[in-house]
Amino acid sequence: MDRTTTTVTVTGTRLPDSLCTHTPKCPSADSPDREAAAVVAGHPEQGWSLLCNAVVLFEDTGELLPDGQVVAPHRPLAVAA
Ligand SMILES: [Zn+2]
Repeated sequence: MDRTTTTVTVTGTRLPDSLCTHTPKCPSADSPDREAAAVVAGHPEQGWSLLCNAVVLFEDTGELLPDGQVVAPHRPLAVAA
């Protein structure tokens, strides 16, 4: 029996750069400016937004990067008086 081996290449969830149609281009997910990317899908009722660079930004300023990395919230939302 002759079996053909199928090779599946997994490249992760990184979006191709061409998906960004903004001018200037949005900062990439590994840039310190990543939060400045345009929001492409906002879900305020669920507390998160998908940015153009595939970063998911949560309302508590936590982030989920496209490579699966989680960034802890770094800006207090409200300062209790
Ligand atoms: Zn963009």
